Amino acid sequence: MIKIILATSNPHKLEEINAINKNPQIVFDVVKGDFAPVENGKNFKENALIKAQEASRIMKTYCLADDSGLCVDALDGRPGIFSARYADTQKEKIAKLLAELNQVPKEKRHAHFTCAMVLTDGNGKPIHEEEGKVFGVIDYEAKGTNGFGYDPIFYLPEYNQTIAQLPEDVKNTISHRANALKPMLKWIEENL
Ligand code: IMP
Repeated sequence: MIKIILATSNPHKLEEINAINKNPQIVFDVVKGDFAPVENGKNFKENALIKAQEASRIMKTYCLADDSGLCVDALDGRPGIFSARYADTQKEKIAKLLAELNQVPKEKRHAHFTCAMVLTDGNGKPIHEEEGKVFGVIDYEAKGTNGFGYDPIFYLPEYNQTIAQLPEDVKNTISHRANALKPMLKWIEENL
């Protein structure tokens, strides 16, 4: 059995990662103790590395970090790495984004979620990384209650629904996190 510590305090991420992982030999748990990474990287990958190394410093074992966010084409990729800090509450973050896109027509509302994953060893050395994306369109209003974060305004044309309207198991097959985690799990199976 391989135990991997997730460098996150977001319970939704543990839930999603547990749902995506079908290998009972790979077990995830969340970081304990004073996990307080300073996410001052220039991109998702640098921030994922900062989080994974902070978790490895505390836990002294394999740690996996996910740094993710929403990139909107019409806003030159914002909020991007600032997705979590874009406003105080998630409701306010969504309201702010919808207000910024107020004048933007449907055909120019393309966006994607990105997820960078970095795995570190017990000494904090990065040993593997993956990136996953999912592409969609920013809707005009929030719809649905599943998922978290910006899911209620992220519309997937091929499903004619926002991610928050999709059953969780569907999100977990198509999400940016799934697209990064699946190859990461394969690498873990083959190398650890
Ligand atoms: P992180 O915890 O630093 O990776 O911040 C990611 C932020 O991006 C979260 O707080 C959410 O606002 C947003 N985000 C990341 N993944 C998702 C997702 O799967 N759905 C919706 N929003 C997400």
